[in-house]
Amino acid sequence: MTGTPPEPPPGTTPGSKPSAAQHQTQGPAQGPTQDPGQGPTQGPTQGLAPGPSHGAASSLLSVEGLHVAFPGRRGGPDARAVDGVDLDIGRGEIVALVGESGCGKTTLARSLLGLVRPTRGRVTFDGAPLGRSSRALKAYRRRAQLVLQDPSGSLNPRHTVYDIVAEGLRIHAHPGDERTAVAEALSRAGLRPPERFFLRYPHELSGGQRQRVVIAGALVLGPELLVADEPVASLDASVRGEILALLLRLRAELGLSALVVTHDLGLAWNIADRVAVMYLGRIVETGAVEQVLTAPRHPYTRALLSVLPEAPGDPVVLTGEPPDPSYIPTGCRFHVRCQVLADGTAERAGVADACRSRDPGVLGGGGSSQAACHWARTQPREVSPAGPVP
Ligand code: SF4
Repeated sequence: MTGTPPEPPPGTTPGSKPSAAQHQTQGPAQGPTQDPGQGPTQGPTQGLAPGPSHGAASSLLSVEGLHVAFPGRRGGPDARAVDGVDLDIGRGEIVALVGESGCGKTTLARSLLGLVRPTRGRVTFDGAPLGRSSRALKAYRRRAQLVLQDPSGSLNPRHTVYDIVAEGLRIHAHPGDERTAVAEALSRAGLRPPERFFLRYPHELSGGQRQRVVIAGALVLGPELLVADEPVASLDASVRGEILALLLRLRAELGLSALVVTHDLGLAWNIADRVAVMYLGRIVETGAVEQVLTAPRHPYTRALLSVLPEAPGDPVVLTGEPPDPSYIPTGCRFHVRCQVLADGTAERAGVADACRSRDPGVLGGGGSSQAACHWARTQPREVSPAGPVP
């Protein structure tokens, strides 16, 4: 990243934001999210299940034209939870997928892991299409791991920490030394000395320690991709920074890629290289996190930013019904709630008819800055103002 870093969006915690490439070659990110008192993991790493070499700049995961639909309620139209998404995640890159509850982000994340079957579209991992047989999915899940938001709910209360972390090794018949692999995964997740945690049960741990156990269970197989669904949403503010710093350190040390699903733009700012804003089953804006969060172009992104604490001006109150994936509006799917259309700005720009009748289309999955908005496309990018305007 070059040039003067932009101001963080209001209500977020500013920090130094090294790029993915810098994370490959430098130590962990510095800043307020740095894990206090947790130095880099020491010790041998050969016990962890082997992963592939890291560091290439190519795309690790690629999604094209992904659709996921569920049967509608009481015979109604299908709920189009994911309605045409292209998304790439590079090696060593952290992408934040943000949006309100019900926008389809969790369904998208689960479909990337093969946990939800897409209705249409294609998922490619490391250059090969994702297979759908149980054998192919089992092999894939060794390389792409899910980190759930609620460690209390995702840890079996009757299992010790050791058994929880070892479970993945046993499922995949890990050929190496199990105890060494478990110890190293716990150590990498910041639970040191690891032997002290082997025989503990989840209820004997703090919330932050439980989340570290979840992360250790994901790390033990040496994955290349973590999909983290609201990874710190259930944690106290004091622990959130530690877990975020841990994820950044794992990226720096292991070259992990990550998709972080969150409704929290502050979290996206602190952890991600790139952000994808999702609304009603589609990504409506994407780009480098600094670009999107300091100079948002899509009215929906602007509305999300306007309600953050300390945001300048009045918050944008979205009108219209909350989104229903069974009844996606024609034209721009956001048009019934769009403040730019409602206040006449789109009319003055000559795009109001297009807003109501023409779908702005599916954004490309790459790293360029894009917004699925007829009005935004009429605005010069360099003067695109930050903040909740107009
Ligand atoms: S295309 Fe029109 S309705 Fe849709 S977000 Fe842009 S300005 Fe609003």
